[in-house]
Amino acid sequence: MRDICKILGFSKLYKKYIMCLIAIITVFTVMLTSVSPFRVCADGNIRKITVGVPADRCPIFYCDKETGEVVGIGVDLMRIASEEAGFDASFKVIGESTLKEALDNDEYDVLLPFGSPISSASGSSTVVSDNLFQTPFTLVTVNNRKPPQLNELKVGMLSSLSGGADTVSQLYPGIEIKFFETMDESVKALRRKEVDALLHNSYVWSYVLQKPSYSDLTVQPSNMFSMDFRAGTKDTPEGRKLIAQLDKGISALPDTQRQAVILDYTGRRLYQYDVYDYLYEYGVVILLFFLLIASFVTIVILKARTFRFDQEEKMRRVMDYDQLTGVLSLKSFRSRVEELLRSNPDVPYVISYNNIQNFKYINDSLGMKAGDELLCFWAKKSMENMSDIDAFCRLEADHFATLRHLEGDGQLSEDVKKVFEPVKNYFTDQGREIHIRISTGIYALTPEDHKDVNVDQMIDYARVAEKKLRDGHKDGFEFYNTEQWSLGKLFAEVTGRLPAALRSGEIMVWYQPQVNYETGEITGAEALCRWKHTTRGWISPGKFVSALEEAGLIYDLDCFVWEKVCCDLQRWNREGKRMTVSVNLSRADLAKNNNVPDFFLKLIEKYDLTPDQLHIEITETAYVESPELLISTTQKLRKYGFKVEMDDFGSGYSSLNMLKEVQVDRIKLDMYFLTETGDTEKSRVIISHIIKMTRALGMDIIAEGVEKEEQARFIYELGCCSMQGYYYHKPMPAEDFEHLLGMG
Ligand code: C2E
Ligand code: CA
Ligand code: CA
Repeated sequence: MRDICKILGFSKLYKKYIMCLIAIITVFTVMLTSVSPFRVCADGNIRKITVGVPADRCPIFYCDKETGEVVGIGVDLMRIASEEAGFDASFKVIGESTLKEALDNDEYDVLLPFGSPISSASGSSTVVSDNLFQTPFTLVTVNNRKPPQLNELKVGMLSSLSGGADTVSQLYPGIEIKFFETMDESVKALRRKEVDALLHNSYVWSYVLQKPSYSDLTVQPSNMFSMDFRAGTKDTPEGRKLIAQLDKGISALPDTQRQAVILDYTGRRLYQYDVYDYLYEYGVVILLFFLLIASFVTIVILKARTFRFDQEEKMRRVMDYDQLTGVLSLKSFRSRVEELLRSNPDVPYVISYNNIQNFKYINDSLGMKAGDELLCFWAKKSMENMSDIDAFCRLEADHFATLRHLEGDGQLSEDVKKVFEPVKNYFTDQGREIHIRISTGIYALTPEDHKDVNVDQMIDYARVAEKKLRDGHKDGFEFYNTEQWSLGKLFAEVTGRLPAALRSGEIMVWYQPQVNYETGEITGAEALCRWKHTTRGWISPGKFVSALEEAGLIYDLDCFVWEKVCCDLQRWNREGKRMTVSVNLSRADLAKNNNVPDFFLKLIEKYDLTPDQLHIEITETAYVESPELLISTTQKLRKYGFKVEMDDFGSGYSSLNMLKEVQVDRIKLDMYFLTETGDTEKSRVIISHIIKMTRALGMDIIAEGVEKEEQARFIYELGCCSMQGYYYHKPMPAEDFEHLLGMG
């Protein structure tokens, strides 16, 4: 340098400066050439090379998720070495399944990784570079199971590591290697004990073992071997030149840089969880989460349903119940009444329509609130007084309707005491001078109302009765139809009570003696039933017989009477007082049993009687209404030896005509019908002719309803000797009759 300066003639000072400048330029050039990635080749060009690498070996080779480029320890080290060697390396993932096959693909200038030279799939030999870095291979077992001796080891490897497998086979000849396409398959095989351990390079293990579901895999401490990591290509002059150049780069690669690159990748948490990993890792949490969500959704649905149900219920309540008093609305009253009447066909009921006459005045003078309070009080009192077979509703404003069952005559006054009086005195009890006037219309239900329920019509009837009261400026009670009411009540009380009455002895058989006018002797009797009702007291058959006929229950009563009569007759026979008794046969009996004669036959057999002891009375009108069955029944009865009597003769319009149609043993001439009305003289003529005619027709005659001595004498003079009536005896209990007969 000094010489150059001398030649150029620079002074000492300048020499110093030039020396420094040259030194700076030299250092800068050296620095520039040492860091430049584009080192110039001998021929002056930076050569581009394509490096084929696998991508399934994180962290050595893998695709970066973000950039999509292939990266990893192998890639980084190769890139540095290539740059050192003056190459511009670009990396491409090999599409072939093995390196051997990839070697035959000219798209790649070099391939990675090789442990040692191998021949390509087509049989070409390879040339490999120097070792880029050493990759240790480690055994992994499941559940820390100790693997057997190496020479007996059955080991699993990935098929892509077949190059490495060759090395293993050479190093450990006894080892059996099984190949798997994927890591997952190899792990499954390990768990199934198809292999004793898995073999892979440690860097890959450091990545793979981050998978949560592989937590049962354990690395065995001893390194089995380490494999070289070289670049390789087909053994051609070109290939050899490239590898030779590359080796220069590799040798220039400082070891510290190698370690830095390895540490960089192995230190990263490269493994990224997939769905299955999350499921595995957080399965319980996820399950709990979903359960929580499911419970939450269920609760929300249930809440929504309950809310809807509550709303519907509220709506229903608005529809079904009166909002002020809480009692039934008319709509629900209708259905409740229908239900009650159907399920209680024998219970006597009334429907009432109640109205506070001076309600408007109460509202005006005391205010709406007081009016409302009164209505609520009435509703409360009524409900307290009701049983579960009654119903109560608010129709509108101050109008209420009640369906009330009846229990005895005293019930109405009880209701007045318990409900109406307190309501009437509601304000006076509070010291206010307003007396409430209530008008109540009552409709008594008939049996038809139970069958064909028309609630609105019944309320209307009750309303009509209530109006009658108001029109007459009265308060209190008014029946829509008093007679109908008492009849309906009787009907219900009689029909509902009959079975119990027959069992309990409430119904008795009494006898009314029949007397011979001349001798005064008792020739027989008529059996007449009597009922001492629990709530109504004595009821005459004139009242309950027709109700029972209508309800189809008279047969039950008559069977009871007939049996009792036969039983009494048998007792009297045994006491030497042979008697004849007339029993009544109703037309409705035949509807229940169309072979009554056989029934009587069985009875007299049972009680050891002769048929002539039993006289069967059939009322004359019955013959008119259903002649065929009654005529045939009469004929059969007479054939069996029973005496048949035509009852109430003279009460109907076809009495004489009937005698032509049917032969009976005796007619019962009803004095009541013949003497009570009309001209006495005419009655005399009619009666005398009837007597003559019946005698002429070969029939016997008995006069009933004989009340006076004159009547008896008169009838006797006309030729009728047999008589029955209050003049002689009233119907009496069996004991009295027995006493009369001189028994006991
Ligand atoms: P009936 O068969 O015409 O019975 C005679 C009725 O006249 C009886 O009334 C009797 O007490 C009444 N009587 C008797 N003598 C006199 C009298 O001098 N003056 C007056 N005014 N009445 C007198 P009862 O017992 O009230 O019976 C009424 C009707 O009930 C009977 O009329 C009969 O048709 C029916 N009956 C009574 N018991 C039975 C029965 O066990 N079965 C059936 N199917 N009907 C019966
Ligand atoms: Ca009779
Ligand atoms: Ca009669």
